[in-house]
Amino acid sequence: MEFDTEFAPAYGHPVEVLSGVSRLTAPNPSPFTFHGTNTYLVGDTTLAIIDPGPESDDHLDAILAATAGRPVSHIFVTHTHRDHSPLAARLKERTGALTVAEGPHRPARAIRTSEADRLDASGDMTFRPDIRLDDGGRIEGDGWSLSAISTPGHCANHLAFGLDGTGVLFSGDHVMAWSTTIVAPPDGSMADYMASLDRLLERDDRVYLPGHGGPVKEPQAFLRGLRAHRKMRERAILERVLGGDRLIPDIVAAIYRTTDPKLHGAAGLSVLAHLEDLVARGLVQTDGSVEIDSLFRPAAKPSPVSIA
Ligand SMILES: [Zn+2]
Repeated sequence: MEFDTEFAPAYGHPVEVLSGVSRLTAPNPSPFTFHGTNTYLVGDTTLAIIDPGPESDDHLDAILAATAGRPVSHIFVTHTHRDHSPLAARLKERTGALTVAEGPHRPARAIRTSEADRLDASGDMTFRPDIRLDDGGRIEGDGWSLSAISTPGHCANHLAFGLDGTGVLFSGDHVMAWSTTIVAPPDGSMADYMASLDRLLERDDRVYLPGHGGPVKEPQAFLRGLRAHRKMRERAILERVLGGDRLIPDIVAAIYRTTDPKLHGAAGLSVLAHLEDLVARGLVQTDGSVEIDSLFRPAAKPSPVSIA
């Protein structure tokens, strides 16, 4: 799996990535956001803005400057994580644009405990879109048309947006060139994520413009690489359980030996997402619901049938 970590964020300045599409990177770099969140401006006359980004006066000013006085009709949100949706409220106030997304933040599954609530600190709980789009929903603007592709996995309400007739897909945090995405319960789901990779494999987009970092230039090969990468990780986790590991921190310590310990919390959630999927598929067992501190064990082999 080859990741592309070449990226110049050009904070405060729009970078034209394609004719009619420019990218403005928010100043919120971190191990999770790479150089920061990408906000895209689509159109020449009346604009669509995709992922306004985190609460930031500087970024709001930069977006408004980048519009160069052109009206904004719609603000699209790929998903309700705090690095993508919060600035929508103030941008809407300033431009009068309508916000468009799948829906409010929600977990991928029923929340089982208050512990799970606490883990969801990355969610923007206040965002409510003016227009709700389901899979296949389309908004036509002034010289552009954007279609929603339901892509849950990183976040339950994640949408990618296809720029109709161009082969360009705004892939949000589902597929990014610089890194794999985080799939962390409760709003993330590994089974959903894998299905969403397959969903994009059915399409023939020629380039992805992600929520962080630079473009994905050969999407099909990249998707196949991501799928193989997750399958490899799944196998490694299953082998740790078969070999006697029972707790997530032990599995993380073994599998993420070379990863920055600051990321071990996120790695633990990713292992949890895999284990939840492995339990659902009957390959691993635990008592009760799957939690971050559950004890895992290999699924019991069916006992041989004895013939009396
Ligand atoms: Zn993000």
